[in-house]
Amino acid sequence: MHFHIMTLFPEMVLDGLNTSIIGRAKEKGYISIDAINIRDYTLDKHKKVDDYTYGGGAGMLMQAQPVYDTYQAVKGQIEERKAGAEMSSKPRVIYVTPQGEVFTQKKAAELAKEEDLIFLCGHYEGIDERVLEEIVTDYISIGDYVLTGGELPAMVMIDAISRLVPGVLNNGDSAETESHSNGLLEYPQYSRPEVWHDKKVPDVLMSGHHANIEKWRLEQSLLRTKERRPEMYEAYMEAHPPKPEKKRRKKKSTQETAE
Ligand code: SAM
Repeated sequence: MHFHIMTLFPEMVLDGLNTSIIGRAKEKGYISIDAINIRDYTLDKHKKVDDYTYGGGAGMLMQAQPVYDTYQAVKGQIEERKAGAEMSSKPRVIYVTPQGEVFTQKKAAELAKEEDLIFLCGHYEGIDERVLEEIVTDYISIGDYVLTGGELPAMVMIDAISRLVPGVLNNGDSAETESHSNGLLEYPQYSRPEVWHDKKVPDVLMSGHHANIEKWRLEQSLLRTKERRPEMYEAYMEAHPPKPEKKRRKKKSTQETAE
């Protein structure tokens, strides 16, 4: 997976994505992260990239030209890398914006299947609409609040997407059981020591009985989701209605009588 971040603050995103699991994934070549400075592509002799908004109003707006030329340069780099290979489709360009659909684990899984992803980070009051119309394929928000720039949202999304790229997590299973991957929050977890502050690890987890541990974990996930995210719990129960145990038994006994 190749991430390309169009930003006015490349050092901010690169520093933030250089540590821990994501940093190691970069070193090992599972992902690559390139940050391209939009200011490098402005044609303004004073290196300006923003201007006043037509119609008045507070704040400045990022202009179309530097953003468009940065995009063309990034697209050119991708095409060069893929020279000879068939360019299946135009790379997706994600404008991180509070006006987009809200980012979810499901969206992260969908985006993790792409080979290249271009992130466009806005600043000031945002970006001239005309360039957005020409280059953006996805408008995505990280939540219903407004930040000063798109760098943190891009970093959040890249982190979440990278964890789903094969090889990035040492234990591929861990992403599958985590919160939000199956519509539930994850169950509580414990590590050594067995007793801490007079609190003992639940017996079932020490039993070595795999089926009972799975059952306990599902029950805990359901309880936790119901308590902390009732709307998520409702949606899960609607999609996974409890099996009608009694009816089945009744049907069986009717069959037995008939026999
Ligand atoms: N005037 C814009 C509006 O009301 O929609 C907000 C601009 S915001 C101050 C500057 C930039 O930060 C945006 O262009 C966007 O890239 C980024 N940003 C702010 N909040 C965000 C959020 N919740 N999710 C994703 N990006 C966000």
